Amino acid sequence: MPKLTVVVPAYNESEVLAIFHKRLWGVLNTLSLQCDVLYIDDGSADDTWAIMQSLAAADARVGALKLSRNFGKEIALTAGLDHVDADAAVVIDADLQDPPELIPELVAQWQAGYDVVYATRSARTGESGFKRFTAVAFYRTMEVLSDVPVPRDTGDFRLLSRRALKALSQLRERQRFMKGLFAWIGYRQTAVRYLREPRQAGKTKWNYWRLAQFAIEGITSFSSAPLRLATWTGMAASVFAFLFGLKVLVKAMLHGDPVPGYPSLMVVVLFLGGIQLLALGVIGEYLGRNYAESKQRPLYFIEEERLPGHDAGVSSALHTDATRRR
Ligand code: UDP
Ligand code: MG
Repeated sequence: MPKLTVVVPAYNESEVLAIFHKRLWGVLNTLSLQCDVLYIDDGSADDTWAIMQSLAAADARVGALKLSRNFGKEIALTAGLDHVDADAAVVIDADLQDPPELIPELVAQWQAGYDVVYATRSARTGESGFKRFTAVAFYRTMEVLSDVPVPRDTGDFRLLSRRALKALSQLRERQRFMKGLFAWIGYRQTAVRYLREPRQAGKTKWNYWRLAQFAIEGITSFSSAPLRLATWTGMAASVFAFLFGLKVLVKAMLHGDPVPGYPSLMVVVLFLGGIQLLALGVIGEYLGRNYAESKQRPLYFIEEERLPGHDAGVSSALHTDATRRR
């Protein structure tokens, strides 16, 4: 029977994990696949890890990984996917915003021959109008700027085939914008639509500051358009400055210079200063990312792990992702 692993990153999800687990297995038990679940504790401060351990202890098809600290969802997801050895993997949030009931549909598309089956939300309930607006604005901007089309209104909830997993495991960049990476690997991709539900319990880990950083991450990881924007703005400003300079020169030669022009001087100085700072900032963003990549640090460390199917008790190990690289 083909094997399916469900990968669930969780950070401080103790309130919802047990409910999630029950609902997930309610769905998995209806599939004619060999299923298991891999939880990743992304350095939670509450008793998420204790719950994961008890779930894993109760069922050999359940595994759990504990990262050495909070690395953020993108890395937690990567850690999980690195440890999957199955014909397909489903990535799902622990907070029940991604309905597990959709998994059979994802599986059906996979069996129809698709490598990446992503779930696209047709509505966002339980989120404020402003959050919705920023999300829409972000996806549209990505669409315009990004080198690969990132499907709009799509989270990380999706199914990946074995070869898609293998491709993904070869992308070891430190700045991980998973939605973009999923799209970047290519292969046959398709969407399944669903209604996004409000979070069942617990709190979202996102605030606008984190979302803004995430947006910058997404854009800079998949597009160098902002760098080009700086170039183009610089060029336009130079052309304008040249023409304006010419005008000033000609005027001074024809009519002499009675020393006015303070306002126009200020405008030009401030305008160019602003553009220069902006361009420096954009370059800085890319330079910073370059720096992070060049350090070549491992993506994560694992503090404890108990993979699905491993009955031999909890193995405690501190190793890097490099040992898992395929
Ligand atoms: N998550 C994680 N590490 C983090 C933040 C979040 O593993 O640092 C997990 C979280 O437990 C949940 C999923 O990522 O399973 C999505 O997080 P959240 O619900 O906060 O995001 P939202 O649904 O609001 O986009
Ligand atoms: Mg959520």
